[in-house]
Amino acid sequence: MKITRIETIHLDEFPAATWVQIHTDGGQVGLGETWFGPRAVSGAIHEIFSPMLIGKDPLAIERHWRDMFDMANAFGFAGAEARAISAIDIALWDIAGQISQQPIYNLLGGACRDRIPTYNTNASYGEVRDLELSMEDAGTVAKSLLDDGISIMKWAFTDPFADPSRGMFLSDNDLDLMMEPMRQVRNAVGKDMAVANDGHGRWNLQNAIRIGKAMDQFGMFWQEELIQPTNVQNHVTLAHEIEAPVCVSERLISKFQFREYLREGAAEIVMPDLIWTGGITETKKIATMAEAEDAPVAPHDTTGPVNVFACAHICMNAPNAWVMETVRAFYGPTGWYNRIIEPNIIVEDGHLLAPEGPGLGTKLKSDVFDRSDMHMESSDEPGGDHWGGFTSGYEVYTNDDGQRAIRKRS
Ligand SMILES: [Mg+2]
Repeated sequence: MKITRIETIHLDEFPAATWVQIHTDGGQVGLGETWFGPRAVSGAIHEIFSPMLIGKDPLAIERHWRDMFDMANAFGFAGAEARAISAIDIALWDIAGQISQQPIYNLLGGACRDRIPTYNTNASYGEVRDLELSMEDAGTVAKSLLDDGISIMKWAFTDPFADPSRGMFLSDNDLDLMMEPMRQVRNAVGKDMAVANDGHGRWNLQNAIRIGKAMDQFGMFWQEELIQPTNVQNHVTLAHEIEAPVCVSERLISKFQFREYLREGAAEIVMPDLIWTGGITETKKIATMAEAEDAPVAPHDTTGPVNVFACAHICMNAPNAWVMETVRAFYGPTGWYNRIIEPNIIVEDGHLLAPEGPGLGTKLKSDVFDRSDMHMESSDEPGGDHWGGFTSGYEVYTNDDGQRAIRKRS
């Protein structure tokens, strides 16, 4: 079996999204996704990775991941290359599931559960204005989510306070005002709603400690990225200073960046973003590394529907999967997932259900390909074994005189 064609698909309506389809000579079509910088991602896929993969066995996922990573690591691996690898990797797992007629979680070792608790990130789309409502009256959103069976929510309510000084200055009065959304939630629904705060990496360490300590009175579900994950020791300090667990985070790319945070105890909750950090292959390994440190895994979302499907397979499989991020404004009846994929994800009683069917369990709707704002790029030419320098082009062999020598590969 061979990979015959790799496509990238963009829609003007969703300028951050890249969908990837990988075709095989067996008729399978694997689907992947990543988010942000779609032109750079398409460049990486068609210029660098497609020539490496066309003509190759789609089932050699581990080998392909390492070949792509080693190529990308010629210049530091994170960025558009890592996002491209992530999208390709999901599509290859989808193909493996279709060939074996199994959901991906069964290929990862089977299911530990058939559903995972989900939390809502208060984002807005169409009629659902959870972000604006959260900023005005978080208690109202908490009540509305509880009505939907969802008892955990997250948003970034410290961002407006960080903007003027890039997180350097925070007055005592503003610190108090920053607590207002938590007071609103507790007044409205008591402790029925768990709340996580996402700091979006906007604070310096000193202010992060002040914010974390001030919020500790409310029993926060976690504190995520109060500081950027660029300094392991600062996260160790933060974790020691505040009571809420420190969550790290969607910006860490690959097991190699997570390793430092796990080894130092700086990540009390591990939040890989599957479509950035290296796909299903890498997220499974990060989850296992976290398991060895007794750290729960809570995959990151607020992006596209294929990510949620891919994360769902990790969440069903990984023993230490804890909660899954989803956005009701996106997946709900007036959201946009319904217009892109079929079937949609299913959230029931605050839980994301296991995908059904072989592979990923969803595909792009045929309507997507008829849209006037759809742009597709396609690659179907192999680049050869020596393409791009990830192998030397030479080999060591034993010559006719019985001596070891080097020659150019034929
Ligand atoms: Mg975040």
